[in-house]
This record gives sequence, C-alpha cells and structure tokens, in this order.
Amino acid sequence: MNRLDFLKTLGLLSAGATMLPSYLSAYARSPFTELRNGVGMFSMQGGTIGWYTTDDAIIVVDSQFPDPARAFVDGIKSFGTGPERVLFNSHHHGDHTGGNLVFENDGYQIIAHANVPGLQRIAAQNSDNEANQAYASTTFDDQYSLDAGTETITAKYYGAAHTKGDSVIWFENANIAHMGDLVFNRLYPFIDRNGGAMISGWINLLETVFAKADSDTLFIFGHGSPETGVTGNREDLLYMRDFLSHLLEYTQNAIDAGKSRDKIVSRSSFDEFPDHVSPSNFLSLPRNLDVAWLELTES
Ligand SMILES: [Zn+2]
Repeated sequence: MNRLDFLKTLGLLSAGATMLPSYLSAYARSPFTELRNGVGMFSMQGGTIGWYTTDDAIIVVDSQFPDPARAFVDGIKSFGTGPERVLFNSHHHGDHTGGNLVFENDGYQIIAHANVPGLQRIAAQNSDNEANQAYASTTFDDQYSLDAGTETITAKYYGAAHTKGDSVIWFENANIAHMGDLVFNRLYPFIDRNGGAMISGWINLLETVFAKADSDTLFIFGHGSPETGVTGNREDLLYMRDFLSHLLEYTQNAIDAGKSRDKIVSRSSFDEFPDHVSPSNFLSLPRNLDVAWLELTES
C-alpha cells in the first residue's frame, strides 16, 4: 500500500479527494476478508469493520463513512441476509460512525456505550455534520451481550482510554475481539483528550484485555501500519501498552527535569519504537506528547 492509499484507508483525506481512486485502484480486490467461524472484516476507508453472519442475523462492528457503508451493506448480503441486523459502534469517532445512517436505513439496530451518542453529537456539531448522523438507539453502561447463531457477542466497556466511550466487542466462540481504536497497530495513536481520553486508563485496559484473551485470540484493530496491518494477537496489545507507558514515563521525566511543554513536544520519534509510523501531523509523537503533558499536569 502506498502512502496515498494508506491515508485514504485511514480516512484522513476529505471524502471528495478519496472516493474515486479508492474504488478504482486500491480496492480492486474485495474489501471483505473472512477470518474464522463466520467472523470477518472489511477495510475500505476509515476504521476497520468487523462482521459476523448466520442464517438469520448480521452483526457488525463500526460503519466507516457513507460510501464504504453502502458498499458494505450491499456486499455483506452475499454472506448473509439477516433479517436481524445489529451494528455496534466501538466508539463515536466519525471514521467509525460516519456510515451509521446507511446502516440504520438498511434496518440495523445501533448499539453503543452510553457515552457514545453524546460525544458523537458534539463532534457532529463541531464539524457541521449533524444532518448525516444516526445515533445508537440502545446503549449500555458496562456490557451488552446478544446471541446469534453459534456466537455470543459481548460489547464491554473498560473505562476511559482512547475516548470515554470505547468498547471491546468480543465474538466469544470464534475467539475474536474487535478493539476499535484501542490499538493503533504500530501507528502513533490519536488520544482524544476532548473526548475524555485517559492514557493511564488505556494502559490498564490493554492489560485487562490481554489477561482475558489467550494465545489463540485474534484481534481486529481499527487502524494499523501498512507493514503490520489491522489484525494481530494479544502480544500486540502489550506492545501498544509499552508505547503508552513509555510515553507517560518519558513525559514525566522531562517535566521533572524542568523541560518546557514546547521542548517536550519537539521530539518526533522514540528510539525504542522504531517501527511506529506517523502518517500525518494528526497521528504523531508530538501530538501524543502534548496530550501526555496535559494529563500529567492537570490539577
Ligand atoms: Zn477513534
């Protein structure tokens, strides 16, 4: 994947700049990938979609943007037609909820953590995009489970991390977990402080999910570097944990040494994490260091 296709996949370019070439070139092959036990993923533009189909249900995690959502709701019908249709939102960000309205119009019930609709509404107001939103009609505080076919699907909230509304969605029999944006696989992450993110909570979450998983658990990640991709195992969670721990430790040491905020955020890479990719200023170590500084200095 070249850099331009990578940015399109991340959803970092505007829709007008992205949709034509992404259909024609990078995704000439199917965006649907079957993983195991009826669970698969879909990558076109934005956060990776997870899906599970049975004879009578389609269960989906995340909706990307309107155009990929239309491609998804049409294409999934060759794997299963419902009639029960459920969409989980792993969190509120637009590259995970931007296609919600397409799903809602195709008969999907939308489910998310209780903090998601409010955060999504504020983000939509800030980007003047309220008319294109559809919000979860079912919300939960701790966890939500449903049975479909041979699967039990459980969305679980572990506290503030990437935002204050992230869920991990477990496909328990397939032993697959969709992490939303709780893992940026070898990418500098977006840490959404305005959306309630908490780096220390994120570290704890990754350790908790690691402990619940086993060596066979397959993880789907919202985003990943072109080299390592958007699937992995539980060791990848610890790698992300190690990055976030190093981020806090480095920043605290710099504060203790009397370094200014400007000096701290001037660093562009860590020698300890040479494989981390920064596709834009938005996903970069200086942005991460600034959020760490804010978290560590807040009174
Ligand atoms: Zn996100």
